[in-house]
Amino acid sequence: MISDLRTLIVGSGFSGAVLAERIAAVLGRRVLIIDRRAHVAGNAYDPKDSHGVVIHEYGPHIFHTNAPHVAEYLSRFTAWRPYEHRVRGLVDDEWVPLPFNMTSFEIAFGEVEGRRLIKLLTDEFGVEVKTPILKMRQSASRDVRRIADLIYEKVFLHYTTKQWGLTPEELDTSVSARVPVHLSRDDRYFQDAFQFMPSEGYLPIFHRMLGHPLIEVRTSTSHTDVIGTEPFNHIVFTGPIDEYFDCRHGALPYRSIRFDMRAQPAAEPVQRWTVENYPTPASQHPFTRSTEFRLLTGQTDVDWTTCAYEYPEAYVPGQNEPHYPIPREENRALFRLYEADARKLSSVSFVGRLADYNYYNMDQAVASALACFEKRVAPKLTGIAA
Ligand SMILES: Cc1cc2nc3c(=O)[nH]c(=O)nc-3n(C[C@H](O)[C@H](O)[C@H](O)COP(=O)(O)OP(=O)(O)OC[C@H]3O[C@@H](n4cnc5c(N)ncnc54)[C@H](O)[C@@H]3O)c2cc1C
Repeated sequence: MISDLRTLIVGSGFSGAVLAERIAAVLGRRVLIIDRRAHVAGNAYDPKDSHGVVIHEYGPHIFHTNAPHVAEYLSRFTAWRPYEHRVRGLVDDEWVPLPFNMTSFEIAFGEVEGRRLIKLLTDEFGVEVKTPILKMRQSASRDVRRIADLIYEKVFLHYTTKQWGLTPEELDTSVSARVPVHLSRDDRYFQDAFQFMPSEGYLPIFHRMLGHPLIEVRTSTSHTDVIGTEPFNHIVFTGPIDEYFDCRHGALPYRSIRFDMRAQPAAEPVQRWTVENYPTPASQHPFTRSTEFRLLTGQTDVDWTTCAYEYPEAYVPGQNEPHYPIPREENRALFRLYEADARKLSSVSFVGRLADYNYYNMDQAVASALACFEKRVAPKLTGIAA
């Protein structure tokens, strides 16, 4: 009988958890949410390690948003702790603020030369603006083009090559087009209006969202374990879209990361900044960045500290995680084949970073899941007799 059917949600990251919570709380309908990992929370999973240090198992996750409705929605499930993110990068043996800003110029080039370069740039582009390096490279001024080349080399080239295993020329130009110089003294990594970390971490958010009595959570369970074993009134799929279609057009490429978690006894933090970037050649530092979690989470009740060193690597399905879609036009073209297949299925809604083959920040994932609920899933389910 239709009234007994549940909605299946595949994946318990932010995308899946928002859909599950909305279907249960707003529509009063039953949900089964599964995840092939042994835990909920997707990439935002933040357990304690064996020393009691809260870590982000899939990489540092910093919350920031300009979307009031996303902040308001998540605030139902958590209180917040103010946190503004600052990143330093190792450039010529000095730690400079990233993105490159006015202070970075003075550290990297010395105060006098740094100020001269800042004046050249602000005369052309203004102050308190983010100017993409690509735009600087198109300047009529030879000096400005030279600065752009220097920053490109010192900050972007090696980092990008390590991150993607490809040179910038092999990636979409949109990747280098986005790298900005921030003509400002504001050394925060993000300028969003809402910059906070959840005061108890991310996991309690998921436990509250999924704690609704109409929601059943099943971990260590893949979609292939469940689909076909019981009927569902609808499926929300937040996993990799190519996997849903058995990779019939070929596998969508991803980049993966190995996190080397280094723990040590320490009453005080061991890094000067939460995230330290290494835009140096791989021969000098094979990792891209290191993060000290206690500086991010504000945890004070431990006398150990853990830093994650990130080693980007090739994605091998079944062996490591699909972290980042690789930004190349040929990959988007392959995705569009799957997207066309997905549009033909009225019984399945695809949502989330893996189903959209797109990089989303957490707030974008939440916003997209809320929109998916309002526009696609709620109308569909309310059209089915309760
Ligand atoms: C290294 C890294 C750092 C990041 N840092 C930030 C940050 O600082 N700030 C920020 O806002 N965002 C950050 N993000 C982005 C953030 O992780 C995403 O916005 C978020 O994960 C999106 O949620 P999601 O539910 O769409 O996907 P996910 O969190 O990936 O959840 C999808 C879930 O589906 C499960 N799944 C997949 N396929 C199947 C299947 N076939 N069967 C069952 N389960 C399945 C997966 O196991 C996973 O748990 C970062 C991402 C990465 C990779």
